[in-house]
Amino acid sequence: MLGVHPTYEIKITGIVQGVGFRPMVFRCAQIHNIKGKIINNTEGVIIHAQASPNNLEAFICSIKNQAPNLSRIDTININEINWNDQYTSFQIDKSENTATKSLVTPPDSYVCKECLDELFNPHDRRYYYPFINCIQCGPRYSIITDIPYDRPNTTMQHFHMCEACKLEYENPLNRRFHAQPIACPQCGPILKLYNNENQIVSSQNPIKDIVDLLKQGKVLAVKGLGGYHLMVDPFNSKALALLRERKKREEKPFGLVFSSVEDCRSFCDLTLHEEQLLLSTERPIVLAKKSKNQGLSDLVAPRNLYFGIMLAYTPLQHLILRNNFTCLVCTSANISDEPIIHEDNITQLTTVADFVVSHDRGIHAFVDDSVIRSVKGHINDEVQIIRRARGYVPKTLPCSSDHHRKILALGSELKNTICIVKNGMFLQSQHIGDLKNQSTYKSFQKVIEHYKKIFDFEPEIAACDLHPNFLNTSYANKLKIPLIRVQHHYAHLCACMAENHFNQDAIGVIFDGMGYGIDGNIWGGEFLVGNYREFQRVAHFEYFQLPGGDICRKKIIIPAFSYLLKALHTQEEILKHWAPPLSEAEMELYQKMIKANINSPLTSSVGRIFDIAAALTGLCNYSAYEGQAAIILEQSITTNNYDLAESYPYYFYLKDNNYLISLNETFLSILRDRNTGVPIGSISFRFHNTIVKIIYEMCLQIRKERQIQTVALSGGCFQNKFLLECTIQVLSNNGFKVIYHRDFPTNDGGISLGQAAHVIYGDL
Ligand code: ZN
Ligand code: ZN
Ligand code: FE
Repeated sequence: MLGVHPTYEIKITGIVQGVGFRPMVFRCAQIHNIKGKIINNTEGVIIHAQASPNNLEAFICSIKNQAPNLSRIDTININEINWNDQYTSFQIDKSENTATKSLVTPPDSYVCKECLDELFNPHDRRYYYPFINCIQCGPRYSIITDIPYDRPNTTMQHFHMCEACKLEYENPLNRRFHAQPIACPQCGPILKLYNNENQIVSSQNPIKDIVDLLKQGKVLAVKGLGGYHLMVDPFNSKALALLRERKKREEKPFGLVFSSVEDCRSFCDLTLHEEQLLLSTERPIVLAKKSKNQGLSDLVAPRNLYFGIMLAYTPLQHLILRNNFTCLVCTSANISDEPIIHEDNITQLTTVADFVVSHDRGIHAFVDDSVIRSVKGHINDEVQIIRRARGYVPKTLPCSSDHHRKILALGSELKNTICIVKNGMFLQSQHIGDLKNQSTYKSFQKVIEHYKKIFDFEPEIAACDLHPNFLNTSYANKLKIPLIRVQHHYAHLCACMAENHFNQDAIGVIFDGMGYGIDGNIWGGEFLVGNYREFQRVAHFEYFQLPGGDICRKKIIIPAFSYLLKALHTQEEILKHWAPPLSEAEMELYQKMIKANINSPLTSSVGRIFDIAAALTGLCNYSAYEGQAAIILEQSITTNNYDLAESYPYYFYLKDNNYLISLNETFLSILRDRNTGVPIGSISFRFHNTIVKIIYEMCLQIRKERQIQTVALSGGCFQNKFLLECTIQVLSNNGFKVIYHRDFPTNDGGISLGQAAHVIYGDL
């Protein structure tokens, strides 16, 4: 037929659903006079375009240029197809539900500028409506119950759109066109305030009620995007003390929420990079240095030079903040290290809160706030991700293997995440928590079931830790599919290589708190050499004993005493150098336990080594949360630059083909410095330099013997900014290629990715 254009089928994959992609394509089609249709399918979007080749090119070009903020185009495939019908217009069709489900779904997003303007505009019909959202913003991942992402597959399915919302939803030129969570005060979710007797107490103006209660020093549980938060006034020490007691959280810092970067600046000294991170689309919690005289209660972040700060990302947070608060404590509602509470269980919530601010939009997938910080990388300022959750999940990492087996990696015990591999992608879950109790275990199972459903995922092979008694290991054993067990520190190494797309042999410097070693001891100060198939342990810190086991993570005097006993053999000798804050009876007990080897596991943990250094300087005797002693020790340093000449002696020696590193001399030198009145900051500086020097000299040794140039840094200890930045510098300045984590946690949150990478890239 003359004058008739050919029909092209254009398949686009990436984050293209629920982010305003189809309306954008619709507008582009209008501009370029293209007839056809666009539909969402399980892999992305499919466009039929009847156009001349020239118009087609212009059309594709403008799609690329005008892709919405939250979208990400991975691939565009264009094919001419046989299509007999002629389209008379361009249309957005109903979603199709046929092909395999891809791993791409949009993350939850902060409330956009346009919606915020409407929220505070008295003439808008959504004025002060806490559930305002549009195609560019609002809940996504947390409300999705199935794929494709359409309203019936979200927790919004029970709300029936009013006429006004429906008009917006159906108008391709409206910014709420196909915004699945669209809502207004007439037809959407409603805010409710409950007291601790499960009674509704909200008045006509719930925002005012909430603000009044916070001003009175009450603790409020507030339902957010991915779970409940606990909010209190950060100037009110009494309220904070109460919150700490109820939450069983002694000193771990609470997050703060602000409504603008300007407000953040009154409390923190922000670098330009940190400001950019605060404003990034993920709206994470950013660790930022407290400014002098910032004036908040000490109980927000005790004994810590940093605050964890974020910008408000829900309309409700903005509403509360703009009514008389510059900032608020906003911390996940949970007890201790349990998962964030996301079910509307008022009785459970009032064990920690005085009042509960709830609503009837369900949270299907819980998702905590993400935590990141700015670090100096090899060349630029970079991001280090500490807790990967809201905003970053479910973003995928491409997997370049030709193998197409579906893998389920079950992660570590602490800071657990899981990772699935399907269709050439790694998808790591949000932070789940410490798998030490049934409630975290339940969340863990829930995430797996959720992924099985929404991604149509049935694992063919599983990976888990070597440790025999973890809850995730017993889960793995019940799966009845082939199971690969991956040593913890080797998984750290594989995670680091995978995220950096590195696939040769590397030296892995893996320092962390603890992981089960192949010899049954607790590893944690390891120099490995390996690739995705196999590894070898080539050096590690000398073992020392942890009398009492787990208790040593908090009572850091005990490992200090144990290490010195290893170095000096007797209590009398120890007392010549150090007066440990331990009773005679305690010292006797620990010696007995060590000598008889009763509940005194051996470890090479660098996490514990930092604790010991902190204890020996006298800075702290007790670590209220994992890493606190190391953080206090690190923050006592007053400079950013290392100086390897300013370090303590140490030595290493060869035993059974392994280099063993002894810190006997290091710790005795610390005590000598302390006893002669050297400032703690200088002792800490020298200690940190010593660890950097050990890394450098061990890597030199390994390079000499094995000609391996690449060093992978991983493990929780590399959350120590001084250690990470200085190690990167020293190694890069000396010809090493250094790889480290940016998009995945260096702590145990990264383990599941490493397990998955070992299986898929190791061809197991
Ligand atoms: Zn919006
Ligand atoms: Zn409505
Ligand atoms: Fe670890």
